[in-house]
Amino acid sequence: MATRLPAQTVGLKTSSYWLDTATPSGDYRHTTLPQRVDVAIVGAGFTGLSAALHAAKLGKSVAVLEANTVNWGASGRNGGMATTGLAIGFGKAIKRYGEERAISYFQEYNHAIDLIESLVTENDLKVDYTRSGKMTLAWKPEHYEGFKGSAEKLKRLVGQPVQLVPKSEIRSEIGSDVYHGAIVDPLGAGLHVGKFGHELARLAVEAGASIHEKARVVDVKRIGRGYVHDVVTSRGTIRADRVIVGTSGYTGRPFGWMQRRVVPVGSYIIVTEQLPQAVVDELLPNRRMASDSKNFLYYFRITPDNRLLFGGRARFAMSSPDSDLKSGEILKKAMGEVFPRLKGTRIDYTWGGLVDISMDQMVHAGEHDGLFYSMNYSGHGVQMATWMGKVMADVVGGNTAANIWNDLPNPAVPGHFGPPWFLPLAGAWYGLLDKIR
Ligand SMILES: Cc1cc2nc3c(=O)[nH]c(=O)nc-3n(C[C@H](O)[C@H](O)[C@H](O)COP(=O)(O)OP(=O)(O)OC[C@H]3O[C@@H](n4cnc5c(N)ncnc54)[C@H](O)[C@@H]3O)c2cc1C
Repeated sequence: MATRLPAQTVGLKTSSYWLDTATPSGDYRHTTLPQRVDVAIVGAGFTGLSAALHAAKLGKSVAVLEANTVNWGASGRNGGMATTGLAIGFGKAIKRYGEERAISYFQEYNHAIDLIESLVTENDLKVDYTRSGKMTLAWKPEHYEGFKGSAEKLKRLVGQPVQLVPKSEIRSEIGSDVYHGAIVDPLGAGLHVGKFGHELARLAVEAGASIHEKARVVDVKRIGRGYVHDVVTSRGTIRADRVIVGTSGYTGRPFGWMQRRVVPVGSYIIVTEQLPQAVVDELLPNRRMASDSKNFLYYFRITPDNRLLFGGRARFAMSSPDSDLKSGEILKKAMGEVFPRLKGTRIDYTWGGLVDISMDQMVHAGEHDGLFYSMNYSGHGVQMATWMGKVMADVVGGNTAANIWNDLPNPAVPGHFGPPWFLPLAGAWYGLLDKIR
């Protein structure tokens, strides 16, 4: 059946704004595959590229194997927000894991943003990086009450310099009246993730790693009972002493054990035409990376060239061209509700991607059947994938203590053996919760 296109499709790009406005560091589709490496890395997103850079810096021979092209996955399609804090929130983390571990988990995100910042400053990367802060907006009045408890704990236990913004002062942070207050963390940052991914690839290659695009890993054959594998790709086979899997929301065969632990939820983004300076200054005067407290959350920011990027899990569905266009229409309506002055503003880009969520919304990284892996960033992977790439390079370099997520139980999603049939059910439930105000 033919797809009915939404009203505005003329001039609308269905590719990622970030990838459309960044230049690849090279063409890696025809590079010669080495026969043997110390470390083979599956996936050329931030996890894989950061692992490659840091493993190469440790003196390892490294090959990155990417089914598509560098930055093709979530790393080149996200909101470009490197935000502080855990996906589950600090209070919930304390309840689940106790104060000491919750503090360590929380601080990992600060370390992760610091790593991005040091990569940017040490290598003079032109990736529009800015520490303009993160803002979480209260969708319901009781959410703001919850922020007060979180702020107190974050200041007392972590020393995090968070600030509360009551509804009466919300206009100092956002040109909208739909929210009931906010919590701001000045340590959050934003960056151009298209440029950043390509720069990571360049740095990895300069450090000695090789990158192989259009090289889908179709099988991994364990040699003996250790870590050595023959990694079979669509472009040939490599023997690797260690394999790191960094495939996140795009994990599939031959990594079935990991696939059953990832819920690949579609998240969607629209980007407006360039806006006048005065409008941008009204929408987000302090250029925060913003998201709200709904289950079907919205997230938004200003791009480096003064557009509004507005995203959300518009529908609980897998990303596909049809799904991306429908979601774009839903998001355009939502954007007009949050920012009434943008009703009628032209949308230049709409796209979607897969977020790698886990059952407990925590990061999972470690080793299974001789394969090392890191994924499940649950919507907070810009900074955490970059950080965990370094951590997993340290782990395969012998420093296993670097991975503090190692001992978290990692249950499979019940009944999840392939495409996630359960997403529409989850979507209906969370949508209902948001409507009960
Ligand atoms: C729309 C959207 C918005 C988001 N917004 C934010 C945000 O603002 N802030 C934030 O912190 N996080 C955000 N995230 C999440 C974040 O982008 C991801 O967690 C992060 O980029 C994951 O990086 P990665 O390198 O692990 O995986 P990816 O970037 O997804 O890369 C995985 C790669 O593995 C490759 N691959 C898969 N299977 C194979 C195989 N068999 N052989 C070879 N290669 C393979 C894929 O082609 C892909 O390129 C968002 C995600 C989406 C989709």
